[in-house]
Amino acid sequence: MIKLHDLEFEPFISEAEITGAIDKIASQLNSNFAGQNPVFLAVLNGAFMFASEVVKRFQGDCEVSFVKMGSYKGTESTGEVKTLLGLDHDLKGRKVILLEDIVDTGNTLVELDKMLRQVGAESYHVATLFYKAEVYDKHIPIAFKGIEIPNKFIVGFGLDYDGLGRNLTQVYKRKENTMTNLVL
Ligand code: 5GP
Repeated sequence: MIKLHDLEFEPFISEAEITGAIDKIASQLNSNFAGQNPVFLAVLNGAFMFASEVVKRFQGDCEVSFVKMGSYKGTESTGEVKTLLGLDHDLKGRKVILLEDIVDTGNTLVELDKMLRQVGAESYHVATLFYKAEVYDKHIPIAFKGIEIPNKFIVGFGLDYDGLGRNLTQVYKRKENTMTNLVL
């Protein structure tokens, strides 16, 4: 168990499981994008660790770029996605691989979809390390999915709770309140 600010978290996904999921995504990307010089577009802040692992495993030419989006306050989605740092890479006519730490409501993807259409990317495919299938209700296809998780708040491997926890090498989930904590 660990404590970040005011909340307790318990171990949830091991480093080995995360590595296995990344290996699988990377091998799919290697077969799908061989010889195509794709642009990896990582969505900051959460995807920085995932992006680094995927890019290290990609064989052949590729470029790497970043955008910074924000929608979470504490452990809740605000529903409003802000572009905090926009595109600085010419993506016109390029094949883009969007790297997301986690797809939850999909609001961030909707904003990115608009952005990539506007700049005239030839195509884009989404690769996400974690995926909350119960919550995702958008129609944008998610081509490469790592680990499907229930609707729980997680931290670690790039994901934070109010700034903390990004450096954890395994993933933790918020500890549920139990009756045993109550003093009757
Ligand atoms: P969406 O726009 O799909 O609802 O949410 C995407 C973003 O919200 C992610 O890139 C991530 O920053 C944040 N997010 C969603 N679920 C979680 C979670 O369980 N833990 C953390 N730390 N961030 C999350």
